[in-house]
Amino acid sequence: MGQYNPYDNVLKVVKEAADILGYSDSDIEAIKYPERELKVAIPVRMDDGTTHVFEGYRIQHSTSRGPAKGGIRFHPAVNLDEVKALAAWMTFKCAVVNIPYGGGKGGVVCDPNKLSENELRAITRRFTAAIAPLIGPEQDIPAPDVGTNAAVMGWMMDTYSMLKGHCVHGVVTGKPIELGGALGRNEATGRGVMFTTKNILRKLGLDSNGATAAIQGMGNVGSITAKLLYKEGMKIVAVSDVSGGIYHQDGLNIPAILEYLSKDRRNLLEDYNEDGMIRISNEELLELDVKVLVPAALENQINASNADRIKADIIVEAANGPIAAEADETLNAKGIIVVPDILANAGGVVVSYFEWVQNIQSVSWTEETVNEKLKNIMDPAFDAVWNIAEQQHTTLRTGAYLIAVKRVVDAKKARAIWP
Ligand code: NAD
Repeated sequence: MGQYNPYDNVLKVVKEAADILGYSDSDIEAIKYPERELKVAIPVRMDDGTTHVFEGYRIQHSTSRGPAKGGIRFHPAVNLDEVKALAAWMTFKCAVVNIPYGGGKGGVVCDPNKLSENELRAITRRFTAAIAPLIGPEQDIPAPDVGTNAAVMGWMMDTYSMLKGHCVHGVVTGKPIELGGALGRNEATGRGVMFTTKNILRKLGLDSNGATAAIQGMGNVGSITAKLLYKEGMKIVAVSDVSGGIYHQDGLNIPAILEYLSKDRRNLLEDYNEDGMIRISNEELLELDVKVLVPAALENQINASNADRIKADIIVEAANGPIAAEADETLNAKGIIVVPDILANAGGVVVSYFEWVQNIQSVSWTEETVNEKLKNIMDPAFDAVWNIAEQQHTTLRTGAYLIAVKRVVDAKKARAIWP
């Protein structure tokens, strides 16, 4: 097994789709390279008086279809290849749901769980200042990702606005509601995962009521997915976070878990307890015999080392890149249906788009309107991917890339190469 590089995963699936679409190497040459890669040093005065320099990135993979769009990750494992892959996935995600954006992503190598609020805010402000020449409502619009949240977006918006000398709401999405954040944005990714899960169960003629699910990751995406699937009547038998997992054969008490986790951002499942549950590892969670497995943490969780032990019937990729390319083939051969990340977790960027549209027009929509508009994008996007995969006798991942690569390449061709 070679060294895992998520960007190679992206290139592999893009090439596969391009070949089916009949595009030449020359047609896809430009989308193989991110348009801009910025690496920055972020000096921060820590609470103990020492100075620490953090490393950060902002990468714009493509602006062919619109401004770059994509989250900011604060995590110890952030690195250039990861941010490049995440930026490219954003390009194809925005294309598959047909919103007028390209793709970008950023990250800072740090562990938010070990930082005070003051240190976190200092990192955010200095990072924002360092990437300020690249971002803006018409250029590149960050949003939350792993380790960041609405509060971090509020500090980014404030820093950028201070530098500009006026209030710029549309520079980031996923902001606090008081700063022009969209109602429904916090839940949007998980809500999209829920719509997608219901869609795939329906297509396969399966009932969501009582269907078992296991969810890896209980952050923004995993916890909202758990909440909404539980509401839909599914039996969530296992969940996990960085501290490990918990399992209950009759279904976990999801509302109690969510209440416990929401009390403090540093609360972890290792300290949670309920009658009848047992502790399991993240690896064991992935290998459970469930109807639906939802990886909602990080990349490369299912790879050549564990793919043949996966027993779920369906995997809904709530995280970005949780399945490595070599594992895809094994899962496919076992008849496991995978709903790809660029479709399954697109709900977040769709509602980010709604937030940006509301900011530009200085209007605000109700949460009901936002959720309805989200469904009106997610459901047809799912059907389109399902239909093309059926027509081409291929996987849902290749189907999603057939739609996305065509939209990106056609936009690039229509613009032609400048100068
Ligand atoms: P988050 O920081 O809110 O939560 C991450 C969760 O993963 C936490 O529960 C953490 O404990 C857990 N985790 C971290 N390392 C782990 C490990 N090694 N093993 C198991 N669990 C681990 O992040 P999030 O925003 O929920 O993002 C999760 C995934 O969803 C990422 O792949 C992200 O790129 C993707 N995503 C997020 C959004 C969004 O709107 N936030 C949108 C689309 C995709």
